[in-house]
Amino acid sequence: MALRAAIELCRLKRNEWLKPRDLARFQWQKLKRLLKHAYENVSYYRRLFQTAGIRPEDIKSREDFVIIPITTKAQLQDLPPGALLAKGYDIKNCTRVETSGSTGKPLSVFQTKGERQLVDAIWTRGFMAAGLRWSDKKITIWASPHEAKPLRYWFQSLGLMRRDYATLLGSETDVLEVLKKGRFNIISSFPSVFKALMGRIKREGTPGIHPRLVFSSAELLDEPTRRQIEETFQAPVFDFYGMEEVGLIGWECPARQGFHLNIDIFAIEFVTNGRPVAAGERGRIIVTSLYSYAMPLIRYDSEDVGRARTKLCPCGRGLPLLSNLEGRFDDILSLPDGRPFPPTGLTTIMRRLKGIKQYKAVQEKTNKLVVYLLLKEDHPSDILQQVERDIREVFSEAMEVEIKAVKEIPLEGSGKFRPAISLVPPRI
Ligand SMILES: [Zn+2]
Repeated sequence: MALRAAIELCRLKRNEWLKPRDLARFQWQKLKRLLKHAYENVSYYRRLFQTAGIRPEDIKSREDFVIIPITTKAQLQDLPPGALLAKGYDIKNCTRVETSGSTGKPLSVFQTKGERQLVDAIWTRGFMAAGLRWSDKKITIWASPHEAKPLRYWFQSLGLMRRDYATLLGSETDVLEVLKKGRFNIISSFPSVFKALMGRIKREGTPGIHPRLVFSSAELLDEPTRRQIEETFQAPVFDFYGMEEVGLIGWECPARQGFHLNIDIFAIEFVTNGRPVAAGERGRIIVTSLYSYAMPLIRYDSEDVGRARTKLCPCGRGLPLLSNLEGRFDDILSLPDGRPFPPTGLTTIMRRLKGIKQYKAVQEKTNKLVVYLLLKEDHPSDILQQVERDIREVFSEAMEVEIKAVKEIPLEGSGKFRPAISLVPPRI
């Protein structure tokens, strides 16, 4: 099976350099095959197509694809696995991938072993594009222990692609010890985990921790945090955009002009109010997983918002770029006039102020924003007023702003940190 994974990886690495026209043709072939499979074998999709009055053969071009209704996580959460699993696939032979469901109930996605190996190979392709080598020793630090069990391969015992895992669980000292002793040259984690570690490193130093590369994923990485991680570890940081349901969607190459989208594995669309946006416009990211046959996901709403880049990357790869990832749609706040305000804008405001350790903004109503602050001991005495003043400067007097100093800002159920949450997200 490891051989199959290695062949898959070679194939994926070749795809990176295909021309956009060849990638589009390749993607369309895969898409047609998937639609036929889902219609014939998955009761949810058969019903979805029938209700919309369409059959797979009605979709004659990529443009026709938009007539298939978008599926949301909430629509799938209430269905029994039997409605989503394709005929001929035994649930006992599949791995259940539990998505974290930060907004409520989790969703279970079922994958065959071959599909999981492909997911693994897709991540590895992204890591290798950033500079990962077979001889590297990589550690992934998770915020919480409930991640899916990673695959192990026989060649890892030969010292190739060595991978270790650690869980932070509030114990930065233990994780730093693991990092020092393990001599890892690649560190992979979330921005909030890096922030927790950096606080400790600042006080204690980092003898023995010298990664060559640092990988970040699972949460939005803003530029100041990226720079801080790079300064702390003296290594370049590469950001990755993944979805628990299907795996790695986009990755940064050394040119770091945005995320290269894995369009040989996924059909990716940007829509607003259900319609495709113009090239380069902000849209909700809709994903079709071209490899998922056990439990197909077609026109699945990622709940993330971003913009595609119209130009190709100077690195020469044919995979297009996602220039801005703005976060989950419910991470995006609204200005009183209805314009969206991405969480990175909030970072810019907070970074200018001294004495803030961590913050979280919750837009409770269209005209009410509550900002929770975890303050440093040496914060200025008027910090709450400073925050209110700067927030109002952006959100105007029409926004009711409440600033609260708190002792702790809890993580989401998923173990991830979200600096902004809107209970009234803008319509994107
Ligand atoms: Zn590139």
